[in-house]
Amino acid sequence: MPDVSADMPAAAVPMEGRSLAAYTTLRLGGPPGRLITATNQDDLVESVRDTTDPVLVLAGGSNLVVGDAGFPGTVVLVRSRGIRVDAGEDADTVAVTVEAGEPWDDVVAATVAAGLAGLECLSGIPGSAGATPIQNVGAYGQEVAETITGVRIYDRVTDEVSTMTPAQCRFAYRTSLFKHSDRWLVLSVDFRLDRSPLSAPVRYAELARALDVTVGDRVPLADARAAVLALRAGKGMVLDADDPDTYSVGSFFTNPVLDAAAYDAMRGRIDGSEPPAWPGTDGLVKVSAAWLIERAGFGKGHAGPGGVSVSSKHTLALTNRGDGTTGALLALAREIRDGVHARFGVTLHPEPVLVGCEL
Ligand SMILES: Cc1cc2nc3c(=O)[nH]c(=O)nc-3n(C[C@H](O)[C@H](O)[C@H](O)COP(=O)(O)OP(=O)(O)OC[C@H]3O[C@@H](n4cnc5c(N)ncnc54)[C@H](O)[C@@H]3O)c2cc1C
Repeated sequence: MPDVSADMPAAAVPMEGRSLAAYTTLRLGGPPGRLITATNQDDLVESVRDTTDPVLVLAGGSNLVVGDAGFPGTVVLVRSRGIRVDAGEDADTVAVTVEAGEPWDDVVAATVAAGLAGLECLSGIPGSAGATPIQNVGAYGQEVAETITGVRIYDRVTDEVSTMTPAQCRFAYRTSLFKHSDRWLVLSVDFRLDRSPLSAPVRYAELARALDVTVGDRVPLADARAAVLALRAGKGMVLDADDPDTYSVGSFFTNPVLDAAAYDAMRGRIDGSEPPAWPGTDGLVKVSAAWLIERAGFGKGHAGPGGVSVSSKHTLALTNRGDGTTGALLALAREIRDGVHARFGVTLHPEPVLVGCEL
């Protein structure tokens, strides 16, 4: 496996005296009160067990917006490593356990190379394996809730280590029990993957087009991974130190999920083409936030105040061009949120976790 620093800017710099900007993919955020590096499960538990400080668990920093004043408490850098494969007796599936600090894309690459299906469409997502349950990471028609069988956690309230079932984790669209809470530390994650040279059925139309197949078809795992990586790179959704379009948290807003009345009201304000929309259960409809943002007048490259802008490759990514601040980024986010609301009556919500700042 490559060194963690390949995916996580955090590990590439000395820790002392640095601002948290060195540990986030936005390259933004003020100083921490205290920084601790945890390299195994015992370290992780001990780093927070007796502290009365506020705690921020920080792994790849790819879904975190940290305020310019920083975080006054203890920041725990998750740097535990390891992937264990338990082939077991089952001819069809394999159990894979991953330590929290393992870079996520290494996990995907390793499972694809081993002929295990279930994670291939999640290629190229930055950050750590331990953070994937936090917001039920997903892309191109796959999400980790489909393959996670257990999440080993340390509960700071009960002072106990245990394994939570998927039902206990309450996975939903880009969220879970863990998001916006500092009660639980994820120590490792258990997945069950199919032994298969072919991908899970391709569900996402854009990916199917790129692979020149029909939705529902299966393709060789390596082809699925390569196609996803290429699509993501074209949108600035794969980290690239030379490309400020990737100094982001990926999507800044989730796709709004509207009930029938809100969906009809939104459609009443549209002239011309309709936004991409995905019907869900209970009459709810998920609508493309990128479409709403673009149609509300915030196109690719739209500049915000002071060194921040919408990515030149994707309207959902808000980026630091190198000399931005969190204050400026949030001012841009507010301008977009308010502009979309004024135009379509729909409220966008941030996808990343905001620490020491608010929208
Ligand atoms: C270019 C780019 C593209 C992206 N594309 C996608 C995408 O396609 N799909 C998607 O879902 N996300 C995407 N993201 C968001 C992000 O990569 C994921 O949410 C990722 O899982 C975050 O991992 P991390 O290790 O960087 O977490 P961090 O940013 O370090 O932390 C995020 C949150 O999780 C908590 N946390 C992290 N590790 C632990 C732990 N071990 N225990 C308890 N809490 C923890 C933190 O406290 C924080 O609240 C993208 C981000 C970028 C920059």
